[in-house]
Amino acid sequence: MNTKTTMKPTIVSHVTSQSAKTRPGLKLRKNGSKNTYDGGVVVLITLVVFLASLVDHAPASIKNMPAPIKTLIVDGQNNHKWAETTPVLKTMMEACGRFKVDVSTCPAKDKAMSGYLPDFTPYDLVVVNDGYNAAPWPRQTQIAFEKFVSAGGGVVIYHAADNAWPKWKAYNEMIAIGGWGGRNEKSGPYLYMDKDGKVIRDASKGKGGGHGSQTEFEITVREPDHPITRGLPKTFLHGPDEMYAFLRGPARHVTILATAHSAKNNGGTGHEEPMLMTIKYGKGRIFHTVLGHAVPHIKKDSFRITYLRGAEWAATQKVTISVPKGFPNQPPQKK
Ligand SMILES: [Zn+2]
Repeated sequence: MNTKTTMKPTIVSHVTSQSAKTRPGLKLRKNGSKNTYDGGVVVLITLVVFLASLVDHAPASIKNMPAPIKTLIVDGQNNHKWAETTPVLKTMMEACGRFKVDVSTCPAKDKAMSGYLPDFTPYDLVVVNDGYNAAPWPRQTQIAFEKFVSAGGGVVIYHAADNAWPKWKAYNEMIAIGGWGGRNEKSGPYLYMDKDGKVIRDASKGKGGGHGSQTEFEITVREPDHPITRGLPKTFLHGPDEMYAFLRGPARHVTILATAHSAKNNGGTGHEEPMLMTIKYGKGRIFHTVLGHAVPHIKKDSFRITYLRGAEWAATQKVTISVPKGFPNQPPQKK
């Protein structure tokens, strides 16, 4: 038995037996003999057959993997440790296989901001990791960002990003609610839920923004059929972390996906405060998570999974990132 002949794929034998001239649509290499050409085709076709066999046997998750979501993290001015959290967010996003992440860092506080003109147009998603007391972007950059979002771009507002830019009207529409930076009743109502889960917009006077000392707390899903929250447990633990409260703003086109009870005995409101939200701005989608004060907090599954799913939804309207078994891998809360 001629093993060599038997083993050879039929397609390869066919190609080698044909003259290059008889094959339409194929041309000889300029400097190559007929033999060199056929050898190249054999190698090429063998490679294609080999790669095709790999694809055939690839797990469905790889074979059907959509193109990575082109993501830009913007940072550089934040009272939080943006230089530490940005690389962790980037690694976390790229490790899950759905995102390709670039970073754009604005000039430091004492440097001129006028030349900061990042191009948002190549991206599907912008993650904001600027925060409290960040200097305003140049108007040209603000307009470019507004256009990016209103045309259908995705945005993630991460933790202290809702402290930033209290005077930028469009940005405050995008975050729906924020805190600090002089925010008060002129910024819009407080937004929260009452104990029955009814959405309250409270126009009473007072500062925007506050949190008690870091604790572990229970998060309650309020929209279990939203792509971001579908498959999450009805309640799950997060923390220890800061629990934002007293947030206020335009609070329009916002859906509260999940809340946590803000305890009065820990400097809170006594209300069910928004932890995860989505907001519509033009054709754009925003995912707003108030969680994740620093690196230890964002490494927890309760942050990581909700963040990744929220980011994927903001960019694509769909969520393929699964909820891991045992999520969020924290023991049940003692009552
Ligand atoms: Zn914080």
